[in-house]
Amino acid sequence: MTIQDPKSKYPKPPFKRQEQPWPGLAGKMEPRPDHGETSYKGSGRLAGRRALITGGDSGMGRAAAIAFAREGADVAINYLPDEEADAREVIDLIEQAGRKGVALPGDLRSEAFCVQMVTDAVDALGGLDILVSNAARQQTRASILDISSEDFDATMKTNIYAPFWIIKAALPHLAPGSSIIGTTSEQANDPSKDLYDYAQTKAATTSYVRSLAKQLAPKGIRVNGVAPGPIWTPLQVSGGATMEKLEQFGGDTPLERPGQPGELAGIYVRLAEEDGSYATGQVYGAMGGGGRP
Ligand code: NAD
Ligand code: MG
Repeated sequence: MTIQDPKSKYPKPPFKRQEQPWPGLAGKMEPRPDHGETSYKGSGRLAGRRALITGGDSGMGRAAAIAFAREGADVAINYLPDEEADAREVIDLIEQAGRKGVALPGDLRSEAFCVQMVTDAVDALGGLDILVSNAARQQTRASILDISSEDFDATMKTNIYAPFWIIKAALPHLAPGSSIIGTTSEQANDPSKDLYDYAQTKAATTSYVRSLAKQLAPKGIRVNGVAPGPIWTPLQVSGGATMEKLEQFGGDTPLERPGQPGELAGIYVRLAEEDGSYATGQVYGAMGGGGRP
């Protein structure tokens, strides 16, 4: 790989204002996010592993799915039915890597669906070694007064309840050496004023990573988190950020640009692979120089 200046490697603000209905599609973003489609090269680090990734159609989940497949893993992805177009591209990329790709569309706000999804993943993959709980809902609201109970509930269900239901369902299938990875955020420690509900769910994510790591260490199951800073994904253009914030997105970091999902792929691989065996209860950040995991 050629050496590149991280400041100029990817697009920087100002960005074009653009808005999509939730949950948004990567395929409709300008510029299109880079999930490592043309750049990620595997070297067998996850040969024969079986992974389930929520939110695997776009953003960090898609970057992880591409990388995992190129590292030799079979990969099941969950996403919302409206995201079929993005998900199809990911399944194609997994298959082009010579691995099995399993599409499991459905809404994680339902406990029954979460349980069924895990069962379906285990059946289709012949077991499970890696669980990436990555899906989340983020809607910017200027005031707490603008957050309805339905709104609050949707964020809590997606970001807090779903990981709880999914991890519970997956646990009986995870043998020693397995890895659980949660996507948390810089918001866990440095919450924005307009992300009152979302930020608390990310604090909860960082907390469950640290709690479960202690609880599951005796079983030989590692639990870690990835904490992104501002990353160019559909979540931000479908209500996650204001248009003012989007225009200047990532410009206030020391690298003066947002991250691309593909820049975090290697962290997910690192936390899943055998060589990462001493990492548990850790949160690895990628924030362009700002924030703290
Ligand atoms: P993204 O929009 O690409 O991914 C989020 C995914 O969540 C969607 O693709 C969707 O499939 C899934 N999802 C949401 N609600 C769902 C539901 N009810 N049922 C099933 N799936 C649902 O955006 P992303 O930024 O890659 O988000 C991935 C993770 O990264 C999230 O946990 C998010 O909190 C975290 N994160 C993102 C940023 C950022 O700046 N983009 C920063 C910090 C943390
Ligand atoms: Mg998506």
